[in-house]
Amino acid sequence: MEKVLRQFFLFLSNNKLLTALAKRYGFRFGASRFVAGTNIGHAAEKIRKLNQKGMSVTLDHLGEYVTDKEEAIERTKETIKSIKVIDKLNLDSQVSVKMTSMGLDISDDLVLNNMRRILDAGKEHNVLVTIDMEDYERCEKTVTIFETLKEEYDLLSTVLQSYLYRTEEDLQRLNKYSPNIRLVKGAYKESAEVAYPEKKDVDENLKKLIALHLDNGNFTALGSHDDAMIEFTKQYVKENNIPTDQFEFQMLYGMRNELKEALVEQGYNVRVYVPYGRDWFGYNMRRLAERPANVLFVLRGVFKK
Ligand code: FAD
Repeated sequence: MEKVLRQFFLFLSNNKLLTALAKRYGFRFGASRFVAGTNIGHAAEKIRKLNQKGMSVTLDHLGEYVTDKEEAIERTKETIKSIKVIDKLNLDSQVSVKMTSMGLDISDDLVLNNMRRILDAGKEHNVLVTIDMEDYERCEKTVTIFETLKEEYDLLSTVLQSYLYRTEEDLQRLNKYSPNIRLVKGAYKESAEVAYPEKKDVDENLKKLIALHLDNGNFTALGSHDDAMIEFTKQYVKENNIPTDQFEFQMLYGMRNELKEALVEQGYNVRVYVPYGRDWFGYNMRRLAERPANVLFVLRGVFKK
């Protein structure tokens, strides 16, 4: 049953009509549980509260699969604005961006130009920019964009997904940049031709990648809510005398709040991924696919005016 629900929500996450309707008709259906608000003002308030609790943030202006050049430019401007606000308000926050939001599906030049503008702002305001990883179809292009831009900018990080067979090679391929990488399981609907279909293999691969990246001496961000992955990382860093400033635990806004606080209390670095904006539909459907128990929150949202 869980598998069926997962497929269903992943199918919805990709639906263009529902995405457009959700954007037009507002912020509902439990959106506010996982999304920090529709504008940067709302998000800044939430970031400040998280910072007060000892947590850092990576801020994401929601949006994906943009096919209109002007829209990709507008989204670039919004991300630059968020970088300026982070600096002006002295918030402890980085930003995360999706390449399809910056024009990946339109042209290579457009996405690179937009990213250079964002990374210039990141450099000026000392804000690290992380390139989120999207579906498999865009993985090679995203890794190549990261390589191109990493030759030019320091404050740049990316994400690799343990469900893909190719990821171990990607991690080795990027090692020459000594990169800060967020390692996650992966949130998209992929075929068994490119991704492990069984959860246990995805989990085992994630552990392997965490160990590899840490052993290579690189900063490792574990993006996961899974106790088993978090425990593995804690144990691994302890056994291998890896300093606390070489890794961090990242979790999504609205998820596992008690665990986040407990990790901060134990002296670990915790970063919360905070999304904001009107384009919340695809993001929220992926969260439902990950954890059908979240449907309850959504149903409450439907009935709550
Ligand atoms: P799962 O495999 O979903 O769950 C494993 C176990 O963890 C569950 O059985 C349960 O015991 C426990 N658990 C999980 N969630 C909860 C909860 N809410 N409450 C209680 N127990 C829970 N994916 C991408 O494809 N690209 C990205 O760029 C990307 N960025 C991410 C950034 C961050 C900060 C995070 C946290 C995730 C990101 N993801 C990204 C999503 C990721 O790929 C997974 O889809 C998502 O994190 C679910 O996997 P999981 O490791 O959290 O645990």
